[in-house]
Amino acid sequence: MLIDTHCHLDFADFDAERDELVARAHGAGVAQMVTISTRVKKLDILLALTERYPSVFCSVGTHPNNAGEELDVTTDDLVRLSAHPKVVAIGEAGLDYFYDTQKPEDQKTGLRRHIDAARQTGLPLVIHSRSADDDMAEILTRETGKGAFPFILHCFSSGAALAKTGVELGGYISFSGILTFPKSTELREIAATVPLDRLLVETDAPYLAPKRWRGKRNEPSYVVNTAEVLAETMGLGFDAIARITTDNAFRLFSKMPRL
Ligand SMILES: [Zn+2]
Ligand SMILES: [Zn+2]
Repeated sequence: MLIDTHCHLDFADFDAERDELVARAHGAGVAQMVTISTRVKKLDILLALTERYPSVFCSVGTHPNNAGEELDVTTDDLVRLSAHPKVVAIGEAGLDYFYDTQKPEDQKTGLRRHIDAARQTGLPLVIHSRSADDDMAEILTRETGKGAFPFILHCFSSGAALAKTGVELGGYISFSGILTFPKSTELREIAATVPLDRLLVETDAPYLAPKRWRGKRNEPSYVVNTAEVLAETMGLGFDAIARITTDNAFRLFSKMPRL
């Protein structure tokens, strides 16, 4: 059994075959999925998916690449919306200096509000960090100093220093299909240093299909390939890594029941 801790099932890529995709995930042993919010204004679409599919849960938040669009979303809004029984996380929020479409100040403002919401609710904050290692490490260190909050560095593709800081601050590190790419030697070396009780797997579907399906549209069932490579990386068997990452997911996403 595996949990896909990060996918985007609302995206139009899946319109033609959402029922089949959820069935394929279950068939592959992916028992539960968390579909991640990128715009608070579209939360209703995610909630409708969680109602249609009992095994699908969701988050609420604003992706850093949409930060400027949702500067009116307050911490109180996030806290209020996260009270829904199927909302099990805050985010994804963070810093994306790779695409650089949004002002860093707007991204930071959004991130701080999401951190406050995670601290108040105890729900994990799903953090997106790309080409922003130094600023992210500084913000996480400063904000954790004001009061701890659970968090995930999702689709981890940053440097060793940010992984170390994240782990030291109590965070979890989630690996996507990037871990399986032949050129990701350095990323696998970083993964090998993460304590077993902080590891998660995800697809980030429809993006970043793992090696076995590289170039195709990604989907939750493909998380199996990432777990296989993570198992090799950690020197463990597949069943062990499946059990470990699943236990970690339920510990972190504490509001999500085991179905
Ligand atoms: Zn992301
Ligand atoms: Zn995402």
